[in-house]
Amino acid sequence: MNFPQRLIDGYSAFTRGRLQAEQHRYRELAEHGQTPEIMVIGCCDSRVSPEVIFDARPGELFVVRNVANLVPPFETGGTYHGVSAALEFGVVALKVKHIVVLGHAHCGGIKAYAEEAAPLSPGDFIGRWMSLIAPAAAKVGPRGSMSREEYIERMEKASVVNTLDNLMTFPRLRKLIEQGSVVLHGAYFGVAAGELSVLDKATGEFRPVKASELK
Ligand SMILES: [Zn+2]
Repeated sequence: MNFPQRLIDGYSAFTRGRLQAEQHRYRELAEHGQTPEIMVIGCCDSRVSPEVIFDARPGELFVVRNVANLVPPFETGGTYHGVSAALEFGVVALKVKHIVVLGHAHCGGIKAYAEEAAPLSPGDFIGRWMSLIAPAAAKVGPRGSMSREEYIERMEKASVVNTLDNLMTFPRLRKLIEQGSVVLHGAYFGVAAGELSVLDKATGEFRPVKASELK
């Protein structure tokens, strides 16, 4: 069997630990369906799993992950819209109350855009996908005297704000937001220290979650 041993080992630990503790909950979720109130749009990056960062139990988070936690602006047409489909399901079927766009430090997608990395393939899926952050990059402006790290961090944070703007282009979602039925949030995870910052919409700044807010 070529199935990765790491996954077999992990599954084994899951059945001995978490599954036993959560068995009743899993059965209930299977019987009654999921009703998560929070949707998270995160990056594929292996260091920023929303379920881990937010210590989520099964059924609590509806998560969509893609390179650099992006949402393309609303559009119709014949192509395939993976993020839009997840958004539609989360908002219309599950009726989530919160949508969190979770950016993070050291994002490879943002870095590739910022440093104009060479395409990885002739088809260049990443380059085309990352062109979605062009409006965020325009807001940050030229790097100037900023260090490379600061420039990329600004871009990562501006991209979260840009993704929130793109979410507002979905007519049905926009209506629900204006009615107060859905609330949008921006957040940023600093990988090295594990620090979480939340976007203050009034100031446009990302504010670290203080220890006093932690239980
Ligand atoms: Zn990333």
